[in-house]
Amino acid sequence: MARELYTARLEQKECISESTQCYHFRFVLEDLESFPFTSGQFVSAVAEDSNGKQQTRAYSIASAASGNRFELCVNRVEGGFFSNHLADLPDLPIGGTIRIHGPHGHFILNSPITDSILVATGTGVAPMRGYTQSLFPEDGTDRSEGRDIWLVYGTRHETDLYYHEEFEALAQRKPNFHYLATLSRAKESWNGLRGYVQDHVARIVEERAARLGLPLPQPGVDPAIPAKELKFDIYAYICGLNNMVSGVRDRLAGFGWHRKQIVFERYD
Ligand SMILES: Cc1cc2nc3c(=O)[nH]c(=O)nc-3n(C[C@H](O)[C@H](O)[C@H](O)COP(=O)(O)OP(=O)(O)OC[C@H]3O[C@@H](n4cnc5c(N)ncnc54)[C@H](O)[C@@H]3O)c2cc1C
Repeated sequence: MARELYTARLEQKECISESTQCYHFRFVLEDLESFPFTSGQFVSAVAEDSNGKQQTRAYSIASAASGNRFELCVNRVEGGFFSNHLADLPDLPIGGTIRIHGPHGHFILNSPITDSILVATGTGVAPMRGYTQSLFPEDGTDRSEGRDIWLVYGTRHETDLYYHEEFEALAQRKPNFHYLATLSRAKESWNGLRGYVQDHVARIVEERAARLGLPLPQPGVDPAIPAKELKFDIYAYICGLNNMVSGVRDRLAGFGWHRKQIVFERYD
């Protein structure tokens, strides 16, 4: 069955990191009154390459649902078609259009919300921004139900931490939102965390278990319970390139975490 294609007009385009050539985009779907989606889902963007061949790429939505608008966060991949098509000004100026279908995907928060560890590197932060916008909307509503929400965000350099000020401001405003930005190649002057995301995730799990008096590794679940009926009081949501996703999954498995507790999206 042919998927319905929508025309998305570019309203805003901003280079948010010169060093990684990362862009933030806001699009409006003028033919639709609203574009409902669940935070964490992605759209498929469609365009023709120079040979007239139709190319399709997935991009996580970097915002919460809001009328007929959605936002993306995309970095240029050297030699790649679509990321450069989006980033290059002559290809996609303000007012220019792309076609999309969607929303798609199951990388969404469990409901009801539980304690959650969000783990991202690079543009893997896009769905995390969608999550935080829907949990803590600007109008002051709070959908987090007081659960602890950690965002562990790793990049190489400070300049590559996208939306850093937004997350810092949210952490100031919401005591149950914990923002851990960590750099693998930090300058001397960096006062924040260093190293890889998996080490900080491990620390969160250990400290939480100690605080709540829970055993680690956590005990296995009854194999008689069907997987879809399993409920946990904490989940991890991991997004980025495969190496990082595997590293975090392995670490959590080492704490006895069940595979259903670990939700992930791989970009490669
Ligand atoms: C569900 C999903 C959501 C995604 N969301 C985002 C997003 O929010 N932001 C974003 O920037 N990207 C995202 N991606 C990746 C995106 O779909 C493209 O793969 C990426 O933009 C590269 O496409 P391209 O056409 O520029 O490169 P291509 O022409 O497809 O590839 C060029 C070369 O780059 C390599 N490559 C492909 N993808 C990547 C990558 N992500 N990083 C490094 N090298 C790569 C390829 O192996 C190839 O050698 C997502 C992918 C998936 C599956």
